[in-house]
Amino acid sequence: MRYRMLVGGERVDASGDRRLPAVNPYTGEEFATVPDAGAADVAAAVRAATDAFERTWSATPGVERARLMHRLADLIEERADELGRLESSDNGKLLRETAGQARFAARNYRFFAGYADKLYGRTIPLDNPDTLDYTLREPVGVAALITAWNSPMQLLANKLAPALATGNCVVIKPSEHASVTTLELADLVERAGFPPGVVNIVTGGAEAGTSLVGDPRLGRISFTGSVATGQAIAAAAARTLVPVTLELGGKSPNIVFADADLDAAISGAMAGIFAAGGQTCIAGSRLLVERSVYDRVVKELARRADAIRLGDPLLSETQMGPVANAPQHERIHRMIAAGIEAGAHAVTSERDVPERGLFVRPTVFADVDNTMPIAREEIFGPVLSVIPFDDEEQAVAIANDSDYGLASGVWTTNLARAHRVARRLVAGTVWVNTYRASAAQAPFGGTRRSGYGRERGEEAMEEYLNTKNVMVDLSGRTPDPFAMRT
Ligand code: NAD
Repeated sequence: MRYRMLVGGERVDASGDRRLPAVNPYTGEEFATVPDAGAADVAAAVRAATDAFERTWSATPGVERARLMHRLADLIEERADELGRLESSDNGKLLRETAGQARFAARNYRFFAGYADKLYGRTIPLDNPDTLDYTLREPVGVAALITAWNSPMQLLANKLAPALATGNCVVIKPSEHASVTTLELADLVERAGFPPGVVNIVTGGAEAGTSLVGDPRLGRISFTGSVATGQAIAAAAARTLVPVTLELGGKSPNIVFADADLDAAISGAMAGIFAAGGQTCIAGSRLLVERSVYDRVVKELARRADAIRLGDPLLSETQMGPVANAPQHERIHRMIAAGIEAGAHAVTSERDVPERGLFVRPTVFADVDNTMPIAREEIFGPVLSVIPFDDEEQAVAIANDSDYGLASGVWTTNLARAHRVARRLVAGTVWVNTYRASAAQAPFGGTRRSGYGRERGEEAMEEYLNTKNVMVDLSGRTPDPFAMRT
């Protein structure tokens, strides 16, 4: 398949017809090519979005935006399994996850569609009763939406749904490692009936991304990806003063107290690190376990990790597919070697992995100290560090001793402790007796090096709105021009 980009309602190639391969990490086969956009292509997309905003979209009523978004959600739901298969072919994640993410993306479009005709301002009573003061909540104009390869459809929905609901036009740039489902969306956007130029999609790598984030016509940049790229984007945006939302990495603690339902906790620990092969920003990659149950939990985890069925991500019996790309495969193995070097103890077996595909053995490290690289650096793979603790105070201290602050988990049957610990954890998300659960309504985002800004939930809309204050004098009097006016 030879994909093309979407700019101003037209299907276009990159200048010079530069292309990038889409490679299936399970079969190793190149199954499609996507355009590799340069600066001129990106500039054309921003121009198309700016024109569409000025000509049509800014005057389109919220109820019409909502109708188009619901239609888009219908079309995604109709094709969810097919989109899932394409995404699994592109990034190796299980079909049951990718098809589920397509449906979750549709749910996000519906949730935010509900806000599109309810963007109320406020009337504000001032000290001077002869004044009417009110606010308008206005779209920022054109938003640049840049996503990572691990969950393209879901990450995009987190951004595109609130951006469209609040009346913005967008330029989307997915990762060069997994672009095809975002390009498939071009068809659905057209069939849903969005006016040309409201949604523009460019593909390519760092060159396209750099051109996009340097454009002064943007009203917002929303980025999901690595810390290093997030820092580069924040630096570029410092020059144009375009506001930025950053969803970056994590090293999230998942804390198991001795009073927890241990079977559920171990299942939650497995979901935290082995679902999607650990390639999620919210991976519960540090498992903190109270010492009295530590040996029991480690032994059972090792047993369950060794039993994970590796294989074709499209088959329903498979529990873990390959990792998404070769650089990622190499980095995870480097981090496993660093864990052994630092003295951590791998309790999982040296089992065989399928010969075909970029597989990594599910790995559980016991006796991990929170200062080791495997406990501090994001690995983005199926590698778990298990750390013992003695009491609640120490658990919170270890959990918060991290450069990141994205997600966290608490497993306990003690209600007071659950809420107490939830308040003390430095993280954008705390799960209690569950892990890796998402909802369109619940805000999501990070602190520290995990980034800033929020996606999903009502909070997400503020990222795409500016508040305008309107102050009206009702007195009919001409005030003294040199006096303080209140
Ligand atoms: P990445 O930073 O390498 O790339 C992300 C995107 O940025 C890609 O589209 C890429 O082409 C683009 N890009 C690269 N250089 C750029 C530049 N200089 N300017 C603008 N854009 C540029 O990240 P990745 O490897 O695709 O994704 C993995 C990372 O994403 C992990 O760290 C993971 O934790 C993070 N992530 C975070 C969340 C979250 O919501 N917090 C979700 C998923 C993934």
